[in-house]
Parts: sequence; C-alpha cells; structure tokens
Amino acid sequence: MTYSIRRPIRNPESDYDTAGVSRQKIVHRRIVQSVRDQVLAAYQKYETAAGQPTLISPIKLSKETRAVLRDNYDLTYGVSLGSLRAETLASASRWICPMCSKGAVGFLDHYLPKDKYPEFSILCLNLVPVCSPCNSNKSNIVGDAVRGRFLHAYFDQLPSDMPLWKAEVRIERQSVVTEFFVNESLPEPILSNARFHFEKLKLNEQYATGAVLELWEKFENWNSEFNLGGAEGVRIEGLRLAGQMRRQFSPHYWKFALHEAVGRSPDFCSGGFKFLM
Ligand SMILES: [Zn+2]
Repeated sequence: MTYSIRRPIRNPESDYDTAGVSRQKIVHRRIVQSVRDQVLAAYQKYETAAGQPTLISPIKLSKETRAVLRDNYDLTYGVSLGSLRAETLASASRWICPMCSKGAVGFLDHYLPKDKYPEFSILCLNLVPVCSPCNSNKSNIVGDAVRGRFLHAYFDQLPSDMPLWKAEVRIERQSVVTEFFVNESLPEPILSNARFHFEKLKLNEQYATGAVLELWEKFENWNSEFNLGGAEGVRIEGLRLAGQMRRQFSPHYWKFALHEAVGRSPDFCSGGFKFLM
C-alpha cells in the first residue's frame, strides 16, 4: 500500500553496535561507542514521536561527533550494513516509491535528514526507500508545524476511503492536458501534510509527465469503447480502470486519480482522447 509500507524488521541497536565495530579508524569507533546511550535513547524518542520533526530535537553533540555519526551511513554501501540497505529497499511494495507511487525505488531517503539529525543516519525507521526524483526533490528539507511535513511511510495512517490526490483531464489547443491536486476533503492534519508533501516533491510535475503516456497506452481501450458506446463508453472505461488501479494498489495511487478524472472529463470522453494520437 503506497504511502504506508511495512517497517523493515531490523534490530536498530545491533545495527548501531555493528557501526561501532566496523568503522575503519579506531578514533571513529570510540566516538560511535561513546554516544551509544544517547543515540539509543533518541531512537526510542523517534519511535514514540513517530518521526515527527516538530517533536524531535537533534542531540547536542560536537561537530566532530555529528560528522562521525552521519558517516555511519556509508557503511550501508559496504558489507557490514549492506543488509540494512537491501532490506529497506525491498520493503517497498513492488519496488514502487512510497513517496510518489510512481517511480521505482533505488535510493534510501533519511526522513529526518542526516545533516540535521546525524544520530538517525542508520536508524531503519528513518530510512525510506524512494525513487530518484523524490530523493532529489526532498533533499535536506525538514517539515515544520506551520507548513506541515512529509508523509511518513512507516508511521502515517491514511484514510482508506479518501484518496490523497485528485486529477483533472482537459483538452486544450487540441492536446490532452492533465493536472493533479491535493484532495481538499482530507481531514487535518493529513491535509496540511499532504499539501507540503505534494508541493515539495513536485508531484504535479512528476505525475503530469507520466499521465499522458499512461492515457496514450490505453488509447485502444478508449477508441473501442467509444466506437461501441460513445462518450458514455469511454467514461465507464475510465471508471473501470480507476477501480482496477485502486484494487491493485491503493486509493492513493496516482493512476487511480488519473483514470477517475477521465471518467469526469466530458471533453476527453466525447472524442478528445483522439488528440492522444
Ligand atoms: Zn518517488
């Protein structure tokens, strides 16, 4: 289910201890071991606060210690913590990015960025598998209470009957145009967070680039339903595909919003789909 995926089954304490014995330089090993209790206490806090940035302050540590903790993450590219990377990437359902439901996962994002929160650089609950565009759009952004925050794939419970995103399909100057929005009927605080998430990850851009291709791939569907049942046939086909996307994946899948919008677009249904060719 997009935007909410199963948590990796790891023991964060033993991952930390692995880091404490795996750093090449003895001075780094000592530093990692010396702040073990503080970091493990912060892990507890992370879990209690469900990763919410407004509830978690970074531990006060020296610049050197912060750099050493942040660089623990490099171990996930090697043998000692490679399984942390592999298992976290594999937790994404069908390798689909839980942040956008569109791209394929290939990167680990630090939900709380490791530059600001180096103590969580190898905490499995802070590592979310993401696609390349989400990884670069999110970058070092931390959400706050005023503008909202990113949805957290391991902690946020989303309504199962209310999609996060809505779409519109229009015909403009003889071409098919799509636009995506946040579903303004969502309850707070999900609404504010969904707006933040949508804007910072540039989801309208990400979806619009795939939407026309997705509609074009279904051209034969639209055309044959149009020949059989006119605009009503296309409308029903849009809704049928929307239902399929929702069942196969989730109501928060971007393709659900897209096909649902086809069903609500008289211009597209009454023959505008022909501009796809
Ligand atoms: Zn993504």
